[in-house]
Amino acid sequence: MAVLVFLEIEDGAVKRSSWEAVAYGSALAKQMGKETIALAPSAASDLAHAGNYGASKVWQAEISVSAESIADLVAQAADKASADVIVLAKSLMADLAAPMIGIKANASVGTNVVALPDLSNGFVIRKSVFSGKALADMKLEGARKVLTIKKNAVGLTKTDAQANVETFGASVGSSKITVKEKQKQTGEILLPDADLVVSGGRGMKGPENWHLIEDLAKTIGAATGCSKPVSDIDWRPHHEHVGQTGIKVSPNLYIAVGISGAIQHLAGVSSSKVIVVINKDPEAPFFKSADYGIVGDAMEVLPKLTAAIKEIL
Ligand SMILES: Cc1cc2nc3c(=O)[nH]c(=O)nc-3n(C[C@H](O)[C@H](O)[C@H](O)COP(=O)(O)OP(=O)(O)OC[C@H]3O[C@@H](n4cnc5c(N)ncnc54)[C@H](O)[C@@H]3O)c2cc1C
Repeated sequence: MAVLVFLEIEDGAVKRSSWEAVAYGSALAKQMGKETIALAPSAASDLAHAGNYGASKVWQAEISVSAESIADLVAQAADKASADVIVLAKSLMADLAAPMIGIKANASVGTNVVALPDLSNGFVIRKSVFSGKALADMKLEGARKVLTIKKNAVGLTKTDAQANVETFGASVGSSKITVKEKQKQTGEILLPDADLVVSGGRGMKGPENWHLIEDLAKTIGAATGCSKPVSDIDWRPHHEHVGQTGIKVSPNLYIAVGISGAIQHLAGVSSSKVIVVINKDPEAPFFKSADYGIVGDAMEVLPKLTAAIKEIL
């Protein structure tokens, strides 16, 4: 009997969101009196660190990763572990794999989960819905459940414990999808995974002022984002567009500069831990969603803020 947590590997290391999934799985396993087993689809430099977040062991397979092969692997591991609950970090891959795992492992599926389930009346999960604007409680039936955990929903506390890494032999089917080429942005922090984001809106007046956003972002190690009109008018590339129709981010810190705070923009940033708004209009709607606000002209505030941060770093 166990809670099984699938680890996503990127560039030879486990993604931070997967450590959050292990922490979630371990807290749930503790509540249920079960063991936590992590499952990796390939080798990674830090698999034993799953112990830091409560896993007792890691099963390491060697598969060519696709949603179908992950579903095969997880279903086989779930049977071997007699897993009651299977946990994945929410991601593009998990969105594809979770329903397939549900079918192959005969489990009910709950996505975008933000809290530990209420076990007092069955298995009731709390999930984020409508782009983070509301929460829904949903009862999952059946003996086995698959959960995807929303990024940043779980706090990470580390111990020194290490997990044993064991080989897991899986037999997975071939994928119907062939990845022909992967093109990755380099030299930049990727927006969807960023812990810190500095984002600019139309209040930046033009692309010639974006060096102010980039200087601040570089100083604190943040990714850069923008509002939709900014990418529509080609001040910034479309992959930086944040919001309901763009990238949804969940960083620890989101700094919004010269962005009014329209509901469609907020839909993409509302799960940020801390929001700082810089806007010259004290009535800008974004201030209502901000943890900290600076009323002022971005052209004056940004250089001063960047210089002040450089001094303390
Ligand atoms: C179906 C639909 C989907 C949409 N999806 C998205 C989406 O995904 N993402 C998104 O962002 N938008 C989206 N929008 C657009 C959204 O409604 C807003 O129009 C947009 O977010 C506004 O962008 P902005 O805040 O950059 O510009 P503005 O609304 O023009 O705001 C500019 C802000 O900058 C401030 N400002 C001006 N000068 C300065 C200065 N010198 N210093 C500091 N502050 C200054 C102003 O006070 C103002 O608050 C969508 C709209 C629709 C209808």
